[in-house]
Amino acid sequence: MVLGEFNLINTYFLSPSSRKEVLLGIGDDCAIVSVPEGKQLAITTDTLVDGVHFPSDTSPADIACKAIAVNLSDLAAMGAEPAWLTLALSLPRVDESWIKSFSDSFRKTADKYHVQLIGGDTTQGPLSMTVQAMGFIEPDNIMRRDGARPGDVIYVSGTLGDAAAGLRILQQGQTIDANTAWLVNRLNRPQARVDLGMKASAYCKCAIDISDGLVADLGHVLEASNCGATVNIDSVPLSHQLVENSINRNDVDWEMVLSGGDDYELCLVVNPEHENELMQTASEISLALTRIGVIEEHTALNIVDNTGAKYLPGRGGYEHFIK
Ligand code: ADP
Ligand code: MG
Repeated sequence: MVLGEFNLINTYFLSPSSRKEVLLGIGDDCAIVSVPEGKQLAITTDTLVDGVHFPSDTSPADIACKAIAVNLSDLAAMGAEPAWLTLALSLPRVDESWIKSFSDSFRKTADKYHVQLIGGDTTQGPLSMTVQAMGFIEPDNIMRRDGARPGDVIYVSGTLGDAAAGLRILQQGQTIDANTAWLVNRLNRPQARVDLGMKASAYCKCAIDISDGLVADLGHVLEASNCGATVNIDSVPLSHQLVENSINRNDVDWEMVLSGGDDYELCLVVNPEHENELMQTASEISLALTRIGVIEEHTALNIVDNTGAKYLPGRGGYEHFIK
């Protein structure tokens, strides 16, 4: 820690232990934790850099929220139960009001997901933060990218393209009304689909979170599983806010929807015999799940519309699957 005399950590990041497996939290050289019997540990980390992963004028409260959600989204995509976080924070200066807003939101978001901050590092440098998230996973219930099989069906949670639309609204300086504010909020405050991931992992063998757009992320699944897919673009779920921000559904920017980043929805690939369970899960957690396509034996990603016409994205990084 190089931020000098300030006892920033004790003031802003220390809070009472909220999880019983944390034997020693913030304050010593290391945290000490125990993993519940029969579980394995899932570990992931993601860095957010000012101006790269969030616009420079994003509020500290939104940045904190996003830094946690993007990490928990990776745990959700494996089916893990989030437990602990570490936070490596690089700050250009000691701006106490910035740090207070950031840490208040960080704590609130951590509490919402029942995760505990157990350590980290604080240094001086360009604004960036690296969160590491750790969670528990049942060894038999792990959703992996290589778990897709021909005949499986492809589902996505929520709606796609909202975050990319939110970014465009900010970049174009569009008027902020109820719709545009909702879309910007989808960019700044993504929700990690933790409940969905945990429940679906009981019967679903393959999932990925959509951080770089459906085309790229489903592409990772197809590559790892050595198969292909057909996705019906007319099935892709869109929010009414996004549609209204376009002129109508026919005018939607499909490049943005299919290849824009930051949605943090889950893409689940399930054997059709588990579709009923998946629908049951969706209703239990009140989250829309939409069937968008099927896994096939070839190694291409075909995107078609209701008439069967092929959609050819201009960018998106799956061209190498087309043989
Ligand atoms: P050391 O020099 O031994 O690495 P530090 O002074 O960096 O110790 O940190 C002291 C304690 O505060 C450690 O327990 C560390 O995990 C914790 N810590 C430091 N920065 C943060 C942070 N941004 N968020 C959470 N805990 C932090
Ligand atoms: Mg340190």
